[in-house]
Parts: sequence; C-alpha cells; structure tokens
Amino acid sequence: MTNKYMYFIANWKMYGGLNSLNSLHKVINFLRKFKKNNFIKIVYCPPHTLIRPMSKKLKNSLINVGAQNCHENDNYGPFTGSVNAKMLKNVGAKFVIIGHSENRLRGENNKLINIKIKSALKVGLKVILCIGETSVEKRKKITKQILSKQIKLGLDKIKNKNKIIIAYEPVWSIGTGIIPKPEDLFNTINFIKKKFKNFKVLYGGSVNTKNINELKLIDNIDGFLIGGASQDSKKFIDIIKKTYI
Ligand code: PEP
Repeated sequence: MTNKYMYFIANWKMYGGLNSLNSLHKVINFLRKFKKNNFIKIVYCPPHTLIRPMSKKLKNSLINVGAQNCHENDNYGPFTGSVNAKMLKNVGAKFVIIGHSENRLRGENNKLINIKIKSALKVGLKVILCIGETSVEKRKKITKQILSKQIKLGLDKIKNKNKIIIAYEPVWSIGTGIIPKPEDLFNTINFIKKKFKNFKVLYGGSVNTKNINELKLIDNIDGFLIGGASQDSKKFIDIIKKTYI
C-alpha cells in the first residue's frame, strides 16, 4: 500500500458555507510537507456554491476541486436549478462525481448517468462514477449483477475511459458507520477490476479515522471517497496519514 498512488475524494454533500473554507489551509500545508505527496491525489467536491471560492483558495496547492453532479445537457438551457458540466468547468472544477446513490435514489438511472458522463468528458472533466448495491440487493446476493449493469450501462459507448475512476460505494454503508467485511470488499473490488480492466477503483462508505486502519490493508483499493469525515480537516488529514503508516 505504501508506494501506491492513492485518491482521497472529499464529498461534502449539501454541507458547508464560505466559512467552511477557513480550515483548508491545514490540508494544504499538511500535503505540502507530507513525504508521500507524490503518491496522493486529493479532490474536494463541495456544493456547487463553493466551487469557485474553493478553487481560488486551492490555487497553487496540490489539491483539485470537483463537483458532486451535473446536468446532462451540454448546452445552456431552460433547466431551472441545474448546472451543466461546462458551467462547472468554468468555475474551476476538474472532476465531477456522477451516479452517487443519493442521486440514484432520487431517480437517476444508468441511462441518464451515461449521458451525464459523456457530457462531462466532452468538456474535459474527469469523472468519478459511483456504483453500489442496496442492502436488499446484497441480501438477494445480486451485488455482482448490479455493479456490472451500473458500469456497463453507465459507460455505454464511451471511448476515453482513462478519464474515469470508479467508486464502489455500497448504499448500505453510506453514512451508517458500517463497512463491508475486508474479504468481501477485496473480492468485490477484484471482481470489478477483472471484469472492467484498467480502472482505478475507490471505496466509499463510512470511511473514518478508526476503520481506515482496517481498510488500508485491502491492497487492491486505489483510494477512498469520503463523505462525513471529509468535512473536518483534522479527520481528513488523519485518514490520509493513517493510510500510510
Ligand atoms: C458518500 O456520500 O460518498 C460517502 C462515502 O459518505 P460517508 O463517508 O459519509 O458514508
């Protein structure tokens, strides 16, 4: 694990105002001094309202900014309340999370996710595609079918796959404090990597300063998508540090 290139994606969800940016200097300074910083990619995905000020704050740092979703339409248009990939790029986003389960639960399907991914890639954003099974699907033992379908349909007719990172986030693990058993997680990541070659695969779901000690030992994981714990700079730094101890 120690010499591996790792991603740490912070998903702030619908949390944070301008004052939430005040502690970012801690992460900037930590990363500058951290010996392993050549092997780390940190991406902050704040709410849309903070992308611009955060990009300014992180200018000349080793940290990138991303968005949490985008509208599927390439062009400007009458879509009240929506923001497309071009607009996100314009305010400093380099990445965008697409297919998060919180949005799938609100009706986003694989077909829509596929259009969103194409639209994001077109303007040069890198995509973090979230996939994951619900607890019911897990109980029915159809996790592999669900993940295969989400990836297959999500990436349908997409050529430049090297700009896409997959984040495996079991829905039952997000925000619950429950993480998969290490051997299950290893096997699921292995399944994804074998079936869909050459993807970086991250894990997301209740990663925190304690369970990172267990998660970091699963050596086919290429990084973490971190929700709750990423909103606290100290906890976020702690997670990164512990990954490398
Ligand atoms: C997420 O929402 O992507 C996530 C991983 O959340 P949490 O870490 O809070 O479970």
